[in-house]
Amino acid sequence: MSGFLHVVGLGPGAGDLRAPRATEALARASDIVGYASYLARVPERSAQLRHASDNRDEISRARHALSLAAAGRRVAVVSSGDAGVFAMASAVFEAIEHGDPAWRALDVEIVPGISAMFAAAARIGAPLGHDFCAMSLSDNLKPWPTVLARLRAVAAAGFTVALYNPRSRARPWQLAAAFDLLRTILPRGTCVAMATAVSSADERIEITSLAEADPSRADMRTLVLIGSAATRRIERADGGLWLYAPRGAPA
Ligand code: SAH
Repeated sequence: MSGFLHVVGLGPGAGDLRAPRATEALARASDIVGYASYLARVPERSAQLRHASDNRDEISRARHALSLAAAGRRVAVVSSGDAGVFAMASAVFEAIEHGDPAWRALDVEIVPGISAMFAAAARIGAPLGHDFCAMSLSDNLKPWPTVLARLRAVAAAGFTVALYNPRSRARPWQLAAAFDLLRTILPRGTCVAMATAVSSADERIEITSLAEADPSRADMRTLVLIGSAATRRIERADGGLWLYAPRGAPA
C-alpha cells in the first residue's frame, strides 16, 4: 500500500514554535485533514486539498484520512499542540484498530509538537520541573465522576496538575466544581496559573491562588495549572511572578 498518513502537531500557535518536521510534512501533503480553525493555521498551497471538519467527530475524521491515504494520497491530519495529547493521533489508532485491516499496512508517522502545557509552563517559569500530570477536564469522553476521582487522587498525591479543556460554552460549570473539590484537599494559598492563547497575539497569563481562582477567567483556549506544595513563587522586579518547582521534592 502506497499511502502516507502524517499526524501532525501544529504547536501552541506561534509559527516558530512549530517543529520543522511538522512544517515539512504539511508542505509535502497532498491532502490536509483537520478541524477548520486548525487548518487555518496551515499555509495554503495550490494543488493541495483541504478537508475541514467541525471538532465533534474525531473518529470519522480519522477514518476519512485513512481512506484517503489508502487510496494513495499523502495525508496530513492536524492537531494543535502535540497530536498525541488529547488529540487526533489516538483517534487515528482507534480507527485503525477497529477499521479496515488494510489500514495496518499504511505508512503512519506521528510528528510531535509543543503541547499547551509546555508552552504555558515556559511562559510562567518552571512549574512542571518536578512530578506533574496532565488531565482533560472535559466530560465529553469520560464520566464526570471519573474526572473528580482522578483530580482528587493526583492532588492528594502532590502532583502539579495541568488541566486541558477547562471550560467552554458547552461545559460552563466543570472548572468551578474542580476548584471546589481542590479547595477541600489543597491549601488555599496553592498557586494556580491560567494561561490563555499562549504564544498567540491575545496571550494572557494570570497567576493567582486556589482561594482566589476565578473560573470565569478561563475559556477553551486556556490551560490551567494547579501547583503543588512544592511550587515556589518568585516576585519579579516589575511586580510579576515566576512559578517554579525546585529540583528536589520536600520529604
Ligand atoms: N493537543 C493539544 C491539546 C488539545 S485539547 C496540545 O497538545 O496542546 C485543547 C485544549 O488545549 C484547550 O482547551 C486548552 O486547554 C489547551 N490549549 C491548546 N492550545 C493552547 C494555547 N495556545 N494556550 C493555552 N492552552 C491551549
